[in-house]
Amino acid sequence: MTNAKTATNDVRVIVIGAGMAGILSAIRLREYGYENFVIYEKSDRLGGTWRENTYPGLACDVPAHLYTYSFEPNPDWSHTFAPGPEIQSYFERVAEKYNVIEKIRFNESVPHCEFKDGKWKIRTSTGREDEAEIVIAATGVLHHPKMADIPGMDSFDGACFHSARWDHNVELAGKRVGVVGTGSTAIQIATALVDKVSHFDLFQRTPQWIMPIDNDEYTEEEKATLRADPQALEATRTELDAGFQHFANAVIDADSAEMKEIEDACLANLEDNVHDPELREKLRPDYRAACKRLIFSPDFYDAIQHPNADVVTSGIKCIEPRGIRTEDGKLHELDVLVMATGFHANKFIRPTTVLGRGGIDLDDVWGDHPVAYLSISIPEFPNFFMLNGPNGPVGNFSLIQIAESQVSYILQLIGLIRAGKCREISANSSATAAFESLRCAAAKKSIWATGCNSWYLDKNGVPATWPWTPSHFFEEMASPRLDSFDQIG
Ligand code: NAP
Repeated sequence: MTNAKTATNDVRVIVIGAGMAGILSAIRLREYGYENFVIYEKSDRLGGTWRENTYPGLACDVPAHLYTYSFEPNPDWSHTFAPGPEIQSYFERVAEKYNVIEKIRFNESVPHCEFKDGKWKIRTSTGREDEAEIVIAATGVLHHPKMADIPGMDSFDGACFHSARWDHNVELAGKRVGVVGTGSTAIQIATALVDKVSHFDLFQRTPQWIMPIDNDEYTEEEKATLRADPQALEATRTELDAGFQHFANAVIDADSAEMKEIEDACLANLEDNVHDPELREKLRPDYRAACKRLIFSPDFYDAIQHPNADVVTSGIKCIEPRGIRTEDGKLHELDVLVMATGFHANKFIRPTTVLGRGGIDLDDVWGDHPVAYLSISIPEFPNFFMLNGPNGPVGNFSLIQIAESQVSYILQLIGLIRAGKCREISANSSATAAFESLRCAAAKKSIWATGCNSWYLDKNGVPATWPWTPSHFFEEMASPRLDSFDQIG
């Protein structure tokens, strides 16, 4: 048995999830000399979000060169905002290059984790039992699809599926397609599909502000330059990062001049680019731009003005065998119905049962209000660390940049165990409560709290996001404040 005063090289780590953050964890663990680890992955492929979302038009709304591991730049991104399949291939390539795949147990989810006798004991979906000192939950944020609860859903005669469960066996050409929702997903689908189907209906409950950012293709010449010149590649990244930080700094202060610039750009986009006054009014939100996650699209307004397309604003009454009936009594006949209705954003690792010290259940601790110190650590859940956990910077930074700094932070905590300084470490209750209280107070000043409904809001209507600047986040992540943690052993 490991003595707390003895350094050990044999700390075992269980990583849950082989998406962007799980792959990253594996690479960094190896780099720091940890070989005794495993990744459990519920699916038969790695990639997380990028494996699950395959809908037409899928792209990342973070510039590709920022949505890239810092240690594995990619000069070959095709566009400013990379298409989903390219991102999936990138993760597959990186996982292969760093020999991560041999560490993944595919088709093995983890329904049960329990901290007992100083270790995490887990049970997997195949019945396997495993144990480790450390668990890293790299289980993602938006991975529980939310189907709208609309009467008659099962009665529809055509194909009906959620955007994150796209059925590629369904032919779309020449079909009447309806999409419910106007989030980032629906807007990307609409833009990709309107001119490929016989008719396109967008069922809009709430209009969205659209920021008209170009999605330029990198020329072969540009890619060759980035390939040949690592400094040019780094400069591209730095330049994009500056633009992104500008946005990240703007949204946390609803009254900032930068926020006003963003709102003006969205308003001008609507006024200048939607020509039919009736359609323009349908598409005009009555809340402030970026209150909901801002949609970046250079061509959604073009697409939705296509003669094939309609924006349906009358509420959905029910689904019938032949289509959607709206409150105005009209039946919108459809062959294919896509529910781009979002995700349950506050589940995180759940439905996995996670039992901490003394058998306390994470589901009871969290209920419908998940909290973790700096999104990473939860009191009484020792040696259990989350990547992109609750209340992190999901709304304003690249999730890869976040995960990279969180992994470095977690490695410092695990390092204390390896060095024999302690056997159990978790954030203490007072630091967690203080952090959460400051976070909520700051979040109320952000644009996300200015009067709209969105998946950023918690049950009390407070944005469940990081409400400070990126620099503050990275400073906080640089090294753990150890007085915020309980260390035992
Ligand atoms: P979302 O932003 O949560 O949007 C869901 C949409 O469905 C909303 O328009 C919502 O209307 C509508 N809706 C839900 N239930 C409905 C009902 N019963 N009747 C009518 N409409 C209903 O989901 P999402 O578009 O999938 O995007 C979620 C997040 O995923 C994004 O914010 C983004 O973070 C991420 N994402 C990123 C990218 C990317 O480029 N990286 C692409 C896609 C998604 P209300 O607005 O009225 O609630």
